[in-house]
Amino acid sequence: MIKVNEDLQFKLINKDTKTQLLICMEEPAELIQAISKVQRYLNEGVINPKYKSSLAANLCEEIADVYICLKKLQLYFDISDDCIQEWIDYKEKR
Ligand SMILES: [Mg+2]
Repeated sequence: MIKVNEDLQFKLINKDTKTQLLICMEEPAELIQAISKVQRYLNEGVINPKYKSSLAANLCEEIADVYICLKKLQLYFDISDDCIQEWIDYKEKR
């Protein structure tokens, strides 16, 4: 279970909503870029454990950023975990 400081994120998004929403758009873009680097690595077909490890570290950081943003959006729009879980369950059944 990943934990995000909800009090902090709630305060941040309510204090400066426009900036925080901008960050919530930028962070997924950074994750996309990190995934793109993995794709490039796979396309090269060369397995370099050191490089793979640095790609994983970069992915980890960007995944964390997106987790924080998702929680921020969830808190700002008062979206419950149950609501998200229902969508996940629905989509995984398709
Ligand atoms: Mg980031």
